[in-house]
Amino acid sequence: MNHYEQLYIGGEWVNPAGPDRFQVINPATEELLGSTPEGSVADIDRAVVAARSALTTGDWAGMPAAERADIMGRLLALLGEKADDLANLITAEVGCPLLFAHFGQVGAANMVLDYFTNLTREYEFEEVRQDMLGPALVRKEPIGVVGGIIPWNVPLFITMLKLGPTLASGSTMVLKPAPETPLSSFVLAELAHQAGLPAGVLNIVPAGREVGEHLVTHPDVDKISFTGSTVAGRKIGALCGERLRPCTLELGGKSAAIVLDDVDLDAIIPELISAATMNNGQACVGQTRILASRTRYAEVVDAVTEAMAALVPGDPSGNFDVTLGPLIAERQRDRVEGYIAAGIAEGARVTTGGGRPAGLDKGWFVEATLFADVDNSMKIAQEEIFGPVVVAIPYEDQADAIRIANDSAYGLSGTVWTSDVENGIDVARGVRTGNYTVNGFGMAWGAPFGGFKQSGVGRELGPEGLGEFLASKTINLPAGTEPTLKY
Ligand code: NAD
Repeated sequence: MNHYEQLYIGGEWVNPAGPDRFQVINPATEELLGSTPEGSVADIDRAVVAARSALTTGDWAGMPAAERADIMGRLLALLGEKADDLANLITAEVGCPLLFAHFGQVGAANMVLDYFTNLTREYEFEEVRQDMLGPALVRKEPIGVVGGIIPWNVPLFITMLKLGPTLASGSTMVLKPAPETPLSSFVLAELAHQAGLPAGVLNIVPAGREVGEHLVTHPDVDKISFTGSTVAGRKIGALCGERLRPCTLELGGKSAAIVLDDVDLDAIIPELISAATMNNGQACVGQTRILASRTRYAEVVDAVTEAMAALVPGDPSGNFDVTLGPLIAERQRDRVEGYIAAGIAEGARVTTGGGRPAGLDKGWFVEATLFADVDNSMKIAQEEIFGPVVVAIPYEDQADAIRIANDSAYGLSGTVWTSDVENGIDVARGVRTGNYTVNGFGMAWGAPFGGFKQSGVGRELGPEGLGEFLASKTINLPAGTEPTLKY
């Protein structure tokens, strides 16, 4: 069973300071899936001490990059062996479809670790720059103790977006998983230990908001890497700002899929629906506003309606046929149902869904719901719903489509669907978001990911993502020096 009595701190399984526990509920069955200690302020303090100590003493401190990469490679191999188990666990924990668990949760996490393992081997942690007065040795040093704060929707993958560059940079981490989905982080701890990660490099303390804030404000933490809601991000950013503490904030989104008139609709529908509803609609990068020209609007609405109505709701555990799982919690279903009611009240038209799927008396399910006749100023077009609710908005011409896409407080992702890729790239150039895809939905591990506007601050992935876990130091040298570089 998935019951954990201890926390992983300082390379050991240790008793938590307090008696409180998190009960992890399978959102499809409402049954108990597992439980973990609920970390307290004292646990965070202990974890920060362990992370600081690993940074300054012991095997990790000053370990050459190639040796760090070897450990990362061993962890990757162990994660690969456990991939199926982890996908099943995360499906039960999050309620996501199994296919998404295999590719979007576990597969993607492993690919990110693979990327950072290779980057660690190649990266120039020291370089010499010739300057007017002589050479300067530029070092990229570990940023230090990182507080990693993770949401519930993609727990292992988002952990890896933070752990990958932590290990690559030689930093250490106190990881705070979300209370709803802490279980995969315990498996990760076991595997990291088995892989030979030195004590204190990764410490895991599942906790709620208040204890999370203690991590954010802890005087011995050097950087916060947060993924979650814009509301929490604003608070965390303010707390970091007061302390002049670097932080990366990966926040919400309300991305637009621009369907251009030249597209073969039948060919794109499966991927468009997957981009709009992935992870049961609980994805920051979800393409939840579908923009179609007035010329083809009715046709697009019909095709999207049909495809969304064909999604199969149910308990995804052990069943690849289920393509729409539940929402994470009852409160999340309440929230999503509130948005559906708001859309109806604003005069938008439900073309499919709008209620709870028939025949499922357990689990926090909502039907896949499409709203047509939506104006971009409506609440359902402006706010992140975080459920399988999509809006279809008509546009006049391509410039109008770009204007509507940009008429958002968010700027995380976006897509354009067209038979003219060059024109699609021009559309992408015009939309103010950090991540864009022409024909499909993608993320590139070697390229920066992050948000414009209210979608965040900073970037993950790519050398830019590693850069946010490094601190630059310049050592000015006497003319003619040719220093030996150390990575
Ligand atoms: P949330 O902001 O409520 O919580 C996220 C995490 O932050 C949790 O671990 C929570 O305990 C912790 N937390 C919340 N307030 C905190 C505080 N003041 N101090 C310290 N820790 C705090 O978000 P959620 O409901 O778990 O996740 C959904 C949100 O995450 C959505 O808005 C979604 O768009 C966003 N998200 C963004 C990305 C991205 O890469 N941009 C990826 C996935 C999810």
